[in-house]
Amino acid sequence: MIEKSYRFEETLFSLVHTLGAMNIAQYMALVAEEYYNKKDPIGRRGSFITAPEISQMFGEMIGVWCAHTWSQMKDNHDLLLVEFGPGKGTMMSDILRATKHIPGFHDSISIHMVEKSASLTKAQQANLKDFHPRIQWHASLQSLPAKPAIFISNEFFDALPIHQFIKSDKGWREHLVAVHPNHERSLAFALSPSSTPSCTFIPSDHQQAPEGSVYEFCPAAVSIIQHISKHLLEHGGAALTIDYGYTTPTYKGTLQAVNHHEKQHVLLFPGDADITAHVDFSQLTQTAKSLGMRTYPTIDQGTFLHNLGIQYRLEILQKQTNDKQKESLQSEYQRLTSPSEMGELFKVFAFSDVSQKPLAGF
Ligand code: SAH
Repeated sequence: MIEKSYRFEETLFSLVHTLGAMNIAQYMALVAEEYYNKKDPIGRRGSFITAPEISQMFGEMIGVWCAHTWSQMKDNHDLLLVEFGPGKGTMMSDILRATKHIPGFHDSISIHMVEKSASLTKAQQANLKDFHPRIQWHASLQSLPAKPAIFISNEFFDALPIHQFIKSDKGWREHLVAVHPNHERSLAFALSPSSTPSCTFIPSDHQQAPEGSVYEFCPAAVSIIQHISKHLLEHGGAALTIDYGYTTPTYKGTLQAVNHHEKQHVLLFPGDADITAHVDFSQLTQTAKSLGMRTYPTIDQGTFLHNLGIQYRLEILQKQTNDKQKESLQSEYQRLTSPSEMGELFKVFAFSDVSQKPLAGF
């Protein structure tokens, strides 16, 4: 049975009642704070399951990528390995386990987890306590030490708040969350009656979009890519991010809510459902490029994992296991790489400062 966070819903109602309609970014930020501070939002028992929670092979391949990137760097004896939005810490534990025997790697790195949620920070601390002697937690990336770095993230950018705009007969209008016109105790979507300050986010080449088009913009994603790019410009290094999203905007809305592994109306279970939007990889690429980064074309997760040799890792693991485990490894591999599962919808984007050698997997 699905339970609702009635108390949080009441707070949201009061806010919208007293302050008026809020934009989607404000709604997503409030709901995400409530959602990610719940006990167990990710995994089989939570709302949704992510690649590291599906299979150890995912984190292992990211570990191979990190160690390879490190081995090619000139200045690599004191490197930050930074993960954004690490969930339960599973990907980092698989990375560290898989790279334990690579000579010099663990001695050269310190681990930095950027996590906003207090309850997930606790889960990460419990899961990672025996994996590395130098692990620090940060509530934001402002407090990272000034050193060369490798930045990684999985399903992080999709959780960041977006603004959504709809092309009406009067021009672009911002999508808002308002009190339902007929049910005083419910929320409903509404359009801003006139242009809002956030409408300046819409690039001028979208002015001719047909009526009904949807445009989404994530200022937080742009600002994080700018911050990473500046860090890489000053100190050197690379960044890798995996998420579901698109490389060409299609004028379709991608905001969605998932609760207990099923899609739900975005306004129906505030604080109980995970609310995300597809990542606009063209925007991330453009941002990194404009700051002088070397960017790589965004590729499918399946292609990336194959380029790194996941099929050989599967063979090795299968040789060490019984028939039942062989089968479940095979189905994990399918889920991660098959175009009909996560292989195509999920994409991988990377960039580095221009002094780095070519990155593996692209
Ligand atoms: N990477 C994990 C978890 C993905 S869920 C996995 O693949 O399993 C999204 C994660 O991002 C959660 O850990 C959430 O608490 C965190 N998060 C969301 N918004 C954040 C923000 N603004 N700053 C830091 N972490 C954030």
